[in-house]
This record gives sequence, structure tokens and C-alpha cells, in this order.
Amino acid sequence: MTLEIYDRTKDSGKLVLPGTRLAVTEEFIGGSGTYSEKNYVYSAVTGKVIIDLGRHEISVLSKPQSASVPKIGDIILGGVVNVSRQMTTVSVSYINNRPVRPSYTMVIHISQLSKEYLETADDAVCLADIVRAKIIDAKTIPLQGSLIGSQLGVVLAPCSQCGSKLEKIGRDKLKCTDCSYIQRRKTTIDYGSGELGFKL
Ligand SMILES: [Zn+2]
Repeated sequence: MTLEIYDRTKDSGKLVLPGTRLAVTEEFIGGSGTYSEKNYVYSAVTGKVIIDLGRHEISVLSKPQSASVPKIGDIILGGVVNVSRQMTTVSVSYINNRPVRPSYTMVIHISQLSKEYLETADDAVCLADIVRAKIIDAKTIPLQGSLIGSQLGVVLAPCSQCGSKLEKIGRDKLKCTDCSYIQRRKTTIDYGSGELGFKL
């Protein structure tokens, strides 16, 4: 069993994956980024092993998250920068709740804006709206997106007449809190809740 005792000096600074056995609990207290199970301390995250010999503590420091490469099924958050008859263009600032810089451009074809028939794209989205969309094709630049689904759509929209906040008054129906102008958008189920992120 002595072979299983962790060699602390050798592995300090080593990059480990979640689930990597780090130490025996007799010798070390598990710090941040770890968990203990049956006499052993394991890594809970991907990161660098940090050993504090004075405190007999072993932790794992998460490495900084690298910029994510967009892929099919990812959820993005972005602002609408252009609306034409058939197409909406979105500047993507978050992918799976993580900021992306520089931003990606996404286009959403009218057929992907809503399940319902739309005359033009601006029946579903307008300039300066904030949308939550799903990536349906990431092979091309711009990315291809969709707003179909109850969690997807406009999460926040300014009144196109006066710029004030629009309040949801019915399914896909919004009313300006200031000038009372009523407009249509393909909204998310949580429109206006202030919840911009997406719970995966
Ligand atoms: Zn208004």
C-alpha cells in the first residue's frame, strides 16, 4: 500500500484532470478544486496542483478558460446588428455564458426565427434586441443560428419608437412601458426577467 502514497514534490505544479487522485487524506487536507473520498483527495477540476506543505493542504487551481470554439448546439447571447427581410445578423458576445472576444457574427435565416410563418424577419426581431440563440452550423463564418425553442429568442428589447423598455404582455407580444406602443417579437419564456444567461 505504501506505493500509493502520493509523491508531493514530484507533482506540484502538474496539470491534472478532474478525478485525478492527488493524495491520501492522512497526509493532506483537500483545498479548493478538490474533493475527498475514502481516504483520498481527488481533483474536482482541470488545473494545476498547488501544495502547501506548511498547512498540509493540496488544491487544484483551475487554469484560465481558453476562448471557446463555437460548435453546434452551443447557446449564444448577442445583440442584433442588422435585420433584413430574410435574415438577421447577430454580434455574438457570449458562448455558453462565457464572454468571447473578438465577437463572432451569426446569421439567422427567417425560417429559423420562429416556428410560425413570418412575413419578414422584423416580425420576430429588431435592431438592438438582445437574443439568446443556438448554433446550428459552426462550419462556416458567419455562424448559423436558430431562435426556435422556448428558451431561445429575444431576452430584452428596446421600444423601436422611443427606446424605452418593452414589457411582455402576451406570447410574443411586447408593450412599451413609456409610449405604450405594442410590438411583436419572438421572445424567450423568461423575457424581461433580467436572466440573460442560460442554465444548461
Ligand atoms: Zn416606446
